[in-house]
This record gives sequence, C-alpha cells and structure tokens, in this order.
Amino acid sequence: MRHTFRSNAEKALTRAKKELESQEEERLKYAALELRLALEAITYDRLQGYREEIPPRFYETWQPKRVLQFLLQLDPYADRSSIVSIGTEDTPGVPAADLKPYGEETVLNLKNLKEHYDALGSFLHMPTLGKLEKGVYTNYQAVRGRCEEIINILDTVFRSSIWNVVFRYLTKINCLKCGALIAKNMHPGSPPLEAECFECGVTYSVKHMGGETPQWKPKQKEIVCPEKDCNSTFWMWEKDLKRRTCWTCVDCGNNFILDLRLIILRDSLP
Ligand SMILES: [Zn+2]
Ligand SMILES: [Zn+2]
Repeated sequence: MRHTFRSNAEKALTRAKKELESQEEERLKYAALELRLALEAITYDRLQGYREEIPPRFYETWQPKRVLQFLLQLDPYADRSSIVSIGTEDTPGVPAADLKPYGEETVLNLKNLKEHYDALGSFLHMPTLGKLEKGVYTNYQAVRGRCEEIINILDTVFRSSIWNVVFRYLTKINCLKCGALIAKNMHPGSPPLEAECFECGVTYSVKHMGGETPQWKPKQKEIVCPEKDCNSTFWMWEKDLKRRTCWTCVDCGNNFILDLRLIILRDSLP
C-alpha cells in the first residue's frame, strides 16, 4: 500500500504559505513547523519508492537527513533530479536516435535538507537563558527569508511532471556473514561503491569489472595467527578491526584480543 506522503507534503506547504501571508511574527513558527512536516513527508515518499530494497525496520527512521543518507548508500542517484525521454531502439542496446520527452522530476536533495531542516527546528524552541544572556534574539526577518527559500524549493519539487523516478540496476547478494539480502542500485558506469549489510554491519566493495554484473568483494583483512608455531590465517571483517575484538584460532585453539600496544622507544622519536 502506498501512503499519501506527497499530498500530505503539499497540504503542509499550503498551510505554511498561509501562515506566512499573515505577516505576523508570532505565526512564523507555525509556518516553520509546517515546512518541517513537508520536508519529512516528501523524504518519506522517496523512501517508499525503495521499499522493496530496504529492511522494514528502517521504516522507523524519522530524521529526513538520515533517511536520505541511507537511500544514497543504496542508490547514489536517489537525490538527483532527472529528465526522462522515451524512444525505440533501432538496434537493441544502442540508445534510440529519436527520443521524445516524457517528463521531468526535481527531487529534494540532501543539500536542501542539510541547509534547512535543523535550522527550522532550532526556531521551534524557546530561546534558552544562555542565548538571552548573550543577547541572541530571534531574527524574524531571517526566519521568514529561510521559510520563503524552502517554499521556493518545494514549489519546484511539486512542479515536477513525474515523480519518484528510480531506474533500477539492482545488484544483490546474500551477506557472507549473516545471509541477509543486500541490494545496491548500481548504474552502468557507476564508480565503485561501498555496501553495508544492514543486519550485521559488515561491508563490501562493489564495482563493475567490465562484465554485466558488478563484483562484490568482502572488505576483510588477512590475519596471521600470532602464536609462534601456528601458521594459521583467517579473514577479519574491516568493521571488526577495532580494540577488544576477540577470536579463537581454529588451529592452535588460543584466544586472542585486538588491542592497542605501547612500545618503549629506546632511541629518539622517529
Ligand atoms: Zn550480514
Ligand atoms: Zn593459531
């Protein structure tokens, strides 16, 4: 079921405009609140477009910046605007010579969110004693200016003739550590990406090697058993290369712990 985030965002935007029209300083905070809701709703709508590829537990994430950062990890094009044209290929695989415009989408991007979402939030709180003591008061003109800027951005987003355009070039694997499905949207020509398993946190590098399917390589480091007479080696995930990681060598049975080591320098510092 698709939820009505997009129309909710449009309604919040309309209400924000109304609050601004009143010209009353005291109503600015309501405009800011509605704009925050609009930014959230439009981002959640984008998230809906990827629901087949994301673990349901991620639906609980509410911070729009985190949501979009997550989507960008899955698809580097998740916050890019696009123009879609359609044509028939004369030769399969060769782009059509005659392309007809189909539609255009402007997407709310991570830069927009970083610039405005938290700033709006700070205006929704009572100025602290610390701020007042320092003589920092709310600059209503600046808040109004910011609200107007966000309205312009959202108006452009809503003027899109098509929306939630996602071109899927999905590459998937089952995590080598926990078996969970990991998907990545990797367009032909995409630079190498890092993929993370959202269940266990291990990482992979994914890159095109010339063939049709990108190659997944686990991000691991080879560890040689530190026991003198044991030549055993094993692969440790990069995310585990940190203090207090423990393991047992399968050959000599010794337990090890990864830690920082202090070394006495007998000579001068290098
Ligand atoms: Zn995993
Ligand atoms: Zn060993």
